[in-house]
Amino acid sequence: AEQALRRAEKLAAAGRLAATVAHEVNNPLEALVNAIYLAQHVEGLPQEAADHLCLADSELRRMTHIVRQTLGFYRESTLPQSTGILQLVSEVLDLYRSRSNTRGLTLRTSGNLADELFVTVIAGEIKQVVANLVANAIDATPPGGLIETSVLRFEDTVEIVVMDTGSGISEGNRKHLFEPFFTTKSDVGTGLGLWVSKGIVEKHGGSIVIDDAGEQGTTFRVRLPIRTG
Ligand code: ADP
Repeated sequence: AEQALRRAEKLAAAGRLAATVAHEVNNPLEALVNAIYLAQHVEGLPQEAADHLCLADSELRRMTHIVRQTLGFYRESTLPQSTGILQLVSEVLDLYRSRSNTRGLTLRTSGNLADELFVTVIAGEIKQVVANLVANAIDATPPGGLIETSVLRFEDTVEIVVMDTGSGISEGNRKHLFEPFFTTKSDVGTGLGLWVSKGIVEKHGGSIVIDDAGEQGTTFRVRLPIRTG
């Protein structure tokens, strides 16, 4: 038990560290992106310089992607507050609506705001978790597929479910999903999304689980205790 506790503490610390680093790095990164953009548009730029800038630009894009995946919504709020989870999930889905339309995916949520469930959480961090899960679901699901979220009361927890009809996860990969830098998305993946998400959820005293592999698709469940502390 003590070992498990130490592991949870380590994960939470790692999540905080990632958030802090990402936050500090984000502003200078944005300045760099702008500077490179301006340099690329200098009149009469020699081809060789243009090629170097092009490389710098694509590497910078990779970095901003990594930072966004670890930082995301962290800046919004840092104190635990009573938060309507249905509302939070629907705000995240709105951000992904155009991406899923472009890919021919249906993105929907079951649940009625009249039955809102409140949990005391750091809203920005839980948004980050839901965003990571939804982004992964979109990545894994071929056109015509469905991504569905729901929010349920399950004993003393509120459960956020993110279900997709995508590729599913092989038995071999399941063991490694929550390890930092584990990714199957060769050039675009960071392998940080689930690792960071697990750190955040465990910090909130909750857990994140995957349903047993069904016929197809993947279901993630995030369980957050209703009473914290
Ligand atoms: P990344 O998305 O950058 O690869 P994550 O930590 O978010 O990093 O995810 C790690 C890996 O877990 C992904 O590369 C993918 O193989 C797998 N994965 C996560 N979510 C899903 C999903 N909904 N369906 C299939 N595979 C998934």
